[in-house]
Amino acid sequence: MERRTFIKTVVGASLAAEISHAQTTAAPDRKIGWALVGLGSLSANQLAPALLKTKHCQLAAVVTGTPEKGVKWREKYGLTEKQVYDYASFDKIIDDPNIDVVCIVLPNSMHHEFTLRAAKAGKHVFCEKPMANTAQECRDMIAACETAKKQLGIGYRCQREPHHAEAIRFAREKVFGDVIHIDAGFGFKIGDPKQWRLNAKLAGGGALMDVGVYALQACRYLAGEEPSEITAFETKTDKVKFAQVDETIQWLMKFPSGKTANCTTTYNFSGMNFFTATAAKGRFGMDPTYGYGGLKGWTSDPAHPLVFENTDHFAVQMDAFSEAILTNQPFEPAGVEGLRDLLAIEAIYKSIASGKDERVVPV
Ligand code: NAD
Repeated sequence: MERRTFIKTVVGASLAAEISHAQTTAAPDRKIGWALVGLGSLSANQLAPALLKTKHCQLAAVVTGTPEKGVKWREKYGLTEKQVYDYASFDKIIDDPNIDVVCIVLPNSMHHEFTLRAAKAGKHVFCEKPMANTAQECRDMIAACETAKKQLGIGYRCQREPHHAEAIRFAREKVFGDVIHIDAGFGFKIGDPKQWRLNAKLAGGGALMDVGVYALQACRYLAGEEPSEITAFETKTDKVKFAQVDETIQWLMKFPSGKTANCTTTYNFSGMNFFTATAAKGRFGMDPTYGYGGLKGWTSDPAHPLVFENTDHFAVQMDAFSEAILTNQPFEPAGVEGLRDLLAIEAIYKSIASGKDERVVPV
């Protein structure tokens, strides 16, 4: 798929017009400097290697609470001592003009604080999913970046991935007729019981916050509208390991047009990684769907296949965010997209607690 068609598919007509303009407006010949905050698995294994593949980005700094990691990263990526910050000295980034973007790759509960601090330092923010622990935190983060007149992008890498983008086009252009119902699920068997993902304060929730959000996102972008009512229930097989966070959740969503969705997320087993869209004249889906590679699409009509080369999701999204900054165009998915997910997630948790159908609070 051509890049322009692909972007149009992803972001819808009006924004596509702006981004399409960004494609034709030559990006100034300058690389955008990225500071990675939190040097855990995603930064080390995906983001930093992907930065090296980008056209418009460079690693400008790292922020870590572990001095030994700082030394390793300096050696590996040729950074100076000044380019390594810790969480206390982080605010000094205000004096470093080489840092344009602060990329927040910390446990979920820390996204809010570091977004506010980055915006205060006059930097654009690229925040990993889930955007924050609560919808209110998302609202604060959006407001902070608006006040600072800086962009806030969310790391929903699937939205720029070609299979997902084409599936969105199928839905929007009614290639298989109106999408009526979506099934989606994502989960894995989580290991180490001591990790932050199982700590409610740091993670904000369990499987739903971590991976269920991908299934939720898929339903929202395939439906092309926001869920209005949700009913959910939780299953817990290990009450010790999952004492603080959810293990397995099933939820049903109703959309204002009458579309429905049926989703599952889990930390209890691996292998579920799919969506299926059932439309008036056919079906399409992906399995596997949300990983970094090896994605596979299928459809009920060979005339409309869902087959693409796999891409580096991280390099693509970082280049897109940098291009948006260079050309002064709005980036999608922006903060409001993270807020919409948190509003649905809050309705899911509320429904589990109340045992009733719950309305999703509008943006
Ligand atoms: P990780 O555990 O590997 O790394 C977290 C980092 O935060 C570590 O460097 C750790 O030292 C640091 N940290 C700072 N304070 C901490 C504290 N109080 N407790 C624990 N760690 C602390 O996690 P990760 O997999 O790199 O995930 C980081 C963020 O990225 C999360 O929000 C996660 O949801 C998101 N993520 C996104 C994707 C994606 O595909 N977009 C994939 C994985 C993770």
